[in-house]
Amino acid sequence: MVARQPEDQTMPTIANRPHPVVPKRAHYDAIIVGARCAGASTALLLARAGLKVLAIDRRPYGSDTLSTHALMRPAVRQLSRWGLLEPLLRAGTPLIEATTFHYGDEEITIPLNAGPDLPGLIAPRRTVLDRILVDAARKAGAEFLHDMAVGDLFADTRGRVRGVEIRVAGRAALRASAGIVIGADGIGSLVAKCCDAQVLRSGTVSAAHVYGYAPVEPGAGYHWYFRDGIAGSLIPTNDGQACIVASVPTKLFDQRFRLGHGPARMEVLGALSPALAEQADRAPKDVRLQAFRGVPGYIRQAHGPGWALVGDAGFFRDPITSHGISDALRDAASLARAILDGSERAFAAWQQERDLFANQILDTTDAVAGFDWTLADIGERHRRFSAVMKAEVQALAAQPMPIRSASPSTGRPTPYRTPANQDGPQATGGASGASNLYRNGTEARP
Ligand SMILES: Cc1cc2nc3c(=O)[nH]c(=O)nc-3n(C[C@H](O)[C@H](O)[C@H](O)COP(=O)(O)OP(=O)(O)OC[C@H]3O[C@@H](n4cnc5c(N)ncnc54)[C@H](O)[C@@H]3O)c2cc1C
Repeated sequence: MVARQPEDQTMPTIANRPHPVVPKRAHYDAIIVGARCAGASTALLLARAGLKVLAIDRRPYGSDTLSTHALMRPAVRQLSRWGLLEPLLRAGTPLIEATTFHYGDEEITIPLNAGPDLPGLIAPRRTVLDRILVDAARKAGAEFLHDMAVGDLFADTRGRVRGVEIRVAGRAALRASAGIVIGADGIGSLVAKCCDAQVLRSGTVSAAHVYGYAPVEPGAGYHWYFRDGIAGSLIPTNDGQACIVASVPTKLFDQRFRLGHGPARMEVLGALSPALAEQADRAPKDVRLQAFRGVPGYIRQAHGPGWALVGDAGFFRDPITSHGISDALRDAASLARAILDGSERAFAAWQQERDLFANQILDTTDAVAGFDWTLADIGERHRRFSAVMKAEVQALAAQPMPIRSASPSTGRPTPYRTPANQDGPQATGGASGASNLYRNGTEARP
């Protein structure tokens, strides 16, 4: 859905506001909507490559979000490569050196290979992980606006996205333009809506997850529990706590959790393992539980003229395989490489690479989240998922860090040019006659 009209002259820009409150510029190389694991990572990598980046998030700096946070090998590898594993460990995030699968009463413990790049796994609280990513990106020169929402995008007369409209106190307040606008704005992505990003694939199953925190002994590993159509996990994290999760098919959640999350969660945990329920019972009685009812997975078109999607905005898979943050960090790096290259070919290659992993991860995740397994075959489904992750880690190891190419004559980075991704006439019509994509789109909808 693309805009066709000169900009609204009555709308103040950042440059002409009498007292610009926050953004330092009217124009950025990249504006990122959403500043958590996908957005802040993309900001970090682009800023380190010398681009002028603004990231905007409607939630406060360092805030929590609806997500457990068990990191898998690809995420830990990326963080290590970006120099952020040490700060996360220094922040008190415990190193996890073993993972145990409980299939009914059977237990399989797998030690995690030690190595300089992957000394173990970690599960930092999002208040820690997202903050450390933002801090590193700021240090590299990226600008962040928290507590401010992007309310709309605007495009030029050819339909190429040119920037964002930022809301202050709930009202459209100012515009900032950019070479590319990146939607790292999660499941309900405004950028995906404004740009009519096509859904390339939809998953068919969803699971619900209800979690809370309880004290745990130092040195605990990850524990994953499966039994008779229910699942659960214990994920050691900061402050001597473990995140304890009960997972059920969404249909069961609608039937059993309607009358209160606490008792239904304890019932599931107790059925999985009395020891897990006992661990969860160590939490204070008024512990706050978080519930996610479930959303089927999807893969969306990853880019278009002047825009791109990264993280959950572009690809969502059920949380049951704990791979969302790994996907976000992998795709942040490959998107940053495409932006720095700027060619149509680089963007097409990025989407191809993302889809290669996204399709395999969605297949193997839905094979677990569908709860149609038995205790005899769930282990095989996990081995298939693990094989995909192994290939992913190998692919990440072979990838260069996103950097700008050097000029052969001076040896210095070549000047950055706005990406040319799909910078041609629009193939589809979209709503013409307005430069604001969302406002225009919603007015056009019945
Ligand atoms: C219950 C649950 C458990 C999970 N457990 C795990 C796990 O153990 N391990 C794992 O790897 N993954 C897990 N995931 C998945 C993981 O949380 C996501 O994949 C990850 O958060 C995606 O990051 P993101 O940066 O793309 O989006 P998000 O984390 O959703 O961040 C998007 C940000 O965009 C901001 N935003 C949205 N719209 C606007 C706007 N218009 N203007 C400004 N800001 C905006 C939001 O405020 C938000 O802060 C879980 C998810 C759920 C729901």
